[in-house]
Amino acid sequence: MQNLTVLGSTGSIGVNTLDVVARHADRYRVFALTGNSQIDLLAEQCQRFNPRYAVVPSRQQLSRLKSLVPPETQVLAGVEGLESVAADASVDIVMAAIVGGAGLAPTMAAVEAGKKVLLANKEALVMAGAIFMRAARRYDAKLLPIDSEHNAIFQCLPAMGAELEASQVSRVSDGKGIRRLILSGSGGPFRTTPIAELAGVSADQACAHPNWQMGRKISVDSATMMNKGLELIEACWLFDVSEADVDIVIHPESIVHSLVEYTDGSVLAQLGNPDMRIPIAHALGWPERIDSGAASLDLVAQGALQFESPDEARFPLLALARDVARRMDDWPIALNAANEVAVAAFLRGEIGYLDIARLVGDVIACWNGAEPVDIGAVCEADAVARTMAAERLGKTGRGKSWRVGSAFDNFEVSGRDL
Ligand code: NAD
Ligand code: MG
Repeated sequence: MQNLTVLGSTGSIGVNTLDVVARHADRYRVFALTGNSQIDLLAEQCQRFNPRYAVVPSRQQLSRLKSLVPPETQVLAGVEGLESVAADASVDIVMAAIVGGAGLAPTMAAVEAGKKVLLANKEALVMAGAIFMRAARRYDAKLLPIDSEHNAIFQCLPAMGAELEASQVSRVSDGKGIRRLILSGSGGPFRTTPIAELAGVSADQACAHPNWQMGRKISVDSATMMNKGLELIEACWLFDVSEADVDIVIHPESIVHSLVEYTDGSVLAQLGNPDMRIPIAHALGWPERIDSGAASLDLVAQGALQFESPDEARFPLLALARDVARRMDDWPIALNAANEVAVAAFLRGEIGYLDIARLVGDVIACWNGAEPVDIGAVCEADAVARTMAAERLGKTGRGKSWRVGSAFDNFEVSGRDL
């Protein structure tokens, strides 16, 4: 029996995780659940899974949740609460599924406590990749990628054994005969929309992903392909490769989740229906295989699989992210922070879709770049970039007010209908 903390249990990944966990009550016990604004959903989850702890952002939500949960569930508040349920000595596995920079501190706490960390929150690796991977090695944390592309690559790498388990998959380049990694991405809802129409697209259109049902922030990132840019940076850290070793291909059907090419010309791919329960179950059960609840892939019904190159004019943020991945240091922090500010403003209807790339490009154009030495420096760079983006937003946006910080607390709407 393994104890599991789900950071961000009310989100899309969190809800899918609990769906898989419910199929294996004999293997996993839910130790802690955390949410942000969907207190009723969090309360329902607590009633169903009886965790020892539930965590909410503030004292106010704490007293509300307390009245809704079973007596055996203790309610904690704030970042300290998140960190403590991520690092608690009783915890074996932490699902890191809080969206955005808010996920960094609790995910780091899990890594520093040497947990098996199922890493959905890509922003932690984008913001603090070097520090994060160093800590994983030092504290012997086991990182298992949940992002479907990275999970696919993990599955296609050689020597799926103990060697890969310890602080994970890095050292791919060391004599493993790997020529390149290929990240696939669907191209999102605007892959074929005439570019002239993009200025007028709405948040709901941007969030209507053709294949995946996800939280609103990552859905917008998929539309702009910033998501693939963040994943490129994520892949560089996880697999210890440079951006030049990673190609990106558009694959509209989202059946081939990513590929590894070897020096002999062999290409290994992982295929499956676009259902996040597959990578979640893979990582939860690893090295064993467990049922995810996902339907079998029907290759014949699926028919043709297409691949194409991403169009840089349509997806300028992808090219920008590659440029940032080439520089690394604190450039990814600025990229991620400016993007979070821009996407949140777009979701609130304050700026247009094309303003996202403008705003991010503008912050990057003014960034100086320096190596962040520790998490304090990461947070500082993050705050500076958010402020820069917020200032520019004042000029670009129709809205007057902008709160720096928790950008996505009003957009937690995805978990319900999964
Ligand atoms: P979501 O918006 O559906 O859920 C986000 C979760 O984070 C919620 O539980 C919310 O309560 C919590 N949260 C938000 N702001 C918070 C804050 N300030 N403090 C504490 N908790 C907060 O997002 P999602 O789609 O589940 O994505 C979660 C993470 O997984 C993201 O980093 C995303 O990039 C990554 N990811 C998601 C998918 C997917 O299919 N949804 C795929 C790959 C990677
Ligand atoms: Mg992905």
